[in-house]
Amino acid sequence: DAMMATLDENWWAGPIVGGRPRDVLTGRVVHGPADNGKPIGRVLDATAEDATTALDRAHRARHAWDRTPATQRADILRRIADLYEENMPRLMAFAVREAGKSIPDAIAEVREAVDFLRYYAGKAEEDFSGPTVLPGPTGESNSISLHGRGVFLCISPWNFPLAIFTGQVAAALAAGNCVLAKPAEQTPIIAYEAVRLMHRAGLPDDVLSLLPGDGPTIGNALLPDPRIAGVAFTGSTDTARIINKALANREGPIAPLIAETGGQNAMIVDSSALPEQVTRDVLISAFQSAGQRCSALRVLFVQQDIADKLTKMIAGAMKELRIGDPSLLATDVGPVIDDEAKAMLSKHAERMDRDAKLIYRTPMPESCETGTFFAPCAYEIPSLDVLEREVFGPVLHVVRYKAAELDKVIDAINGTGYGLTAAVHSRVEATVNHIVDRLEVGNAYVNRNQIGAIVGVQPFGGEGLSGTGPKAGGPRYLHRFATERVVS
Ligand code: ADP
Repeated sequence: DAMMATLDENWWAGPIVGGRPRDVLTGRVVHGPADNGKPIGRVLDATAEDATTALDRAHRARHAWDRTPATQRADILRRIADLYEENMPRLMAFAVREAGKSIPDAIAEVREAVDFLRYYAGKAEEDFSGPTVLPGPTGESNSISLHGRGVFLCISPWNFPLAIFTGQVAAALAAGNCVLAKPAEQTPIIAYEAVRLMHRAGLPDDVLSLLPGDGPTIGNALLPDPRIAGVAFTGSTDTARIINKALANREGPIAPLIAETGGQNAMIVDSSALPEQVTRDVLISAFQSAGQRCSALRVLFVQQDIADKLTKMIAGAMKELRIGDPSLLATDVGPVIDDEAKAMLSKHAERMDRDAKLIYRTPMPESCETGTFFAPCAYEIPSLDVLEREVFGPVLHVVRYKAAELDKVIDAINGTGYGLTAAVHSRVEATVNHIVDRLEVGNAYVNRNQIGAIVGVQPFGGEGLSGTGPKAGGPRYLHRFATERVVS
């Protein structure tokens, strides 16, 4: 009920600088992807001036925050986690309506954010609570300690508008940095609510500012400034390059960029795999969250002998997918994020309809004709070369291979230059090991689906074109946000 009540409200978001939102309820209209173009709220985008003011304040606050004992910083993060839990229905409602998340996805979204907060709180206490003595020659003592770098800029995407947003911010804060948070243009409202909860939990005003708005406007205002000590970014590889160049070209300290970008994720299925299990895992990997996960399956390599049978089973399962209103519990596949995303997918599907063989396209109900829905589809393609870039949506590509070509398949996957996730389905242990040893990916999944990364258990992040590391939700993530000092 709390969720439904929230769904009926009119929402507003804007910059939060100095702990206070502006009390003018104006700004551009925010559309929910499933709401048939109906406005769900408004957002006042931050200006370059807002960004500079936030940076001035954060820069002044940085020493006090870094000198706050790690246990106190951790306590604040845990209070934020408690507030997220208390406000779960509200936060879920934003995820459903602003980002088009299905209800199971919205639950996972809030849970993951909570997990990040508690995990990084624990890591801050473990690693930032004071100097560690290093073994050394007698007569001399040596110790090492970790400190915040200063002001971190955290730039997040719309596909995990609470989880990734919170993960970046929590890590930077836990490590002793002040933070300027830039949510995606499409999802400012959930970020606004999150920052309100963070300040309510006792986070000092100037330690965290929210700068919703246009990426280049905020980027151009902040990236050239030498007071930006580091950037955490999740989004496209192209934008990561732009940010990297801006940091490289400026005067001032050499700042780290922690980037988590796209993938061209593959699954290899050999003829020993269990077809029912593969079908289930393919459906989850390719179509859950309408395929809008950086980890999602894009290219399925199937050994020739079982390809006909497996594609038939996949088509059968796709027929059962329920597309529609994400606020209904029965919905499997909600909308894609916006018109632009839908147009890109439609363009890709047109090319595939012309050049590839359609395996199946799930029929869309009439109720989906007006929102930004996109029908899940699967195509057979001759090779990976057909795909020019990441296709971010519910589109699966299937390639057949012969057993003798397995190493060529592995080379082709590595040859994309991306290295985020990959999966293998096989009951032959030697084959599994052979593949897992050779795939250059950050996260490999064996005989299971390839989405989902449990904080602290399955640290997540890619290599190559997919990101810089370290892995989010992993034991060393906070270290990249920190600087090490040795006293001898
Ligand atoms: P996506 O394809 O997921 O929309 P983007 O890389 O365009 O990926 O966006 C991810 C985030 O990066 C968003 O918050 C966006 O506003 C931000 N962004 C885009 N361009 C820039 C830029 N030039 N400088 C800083 N941030 C940017």
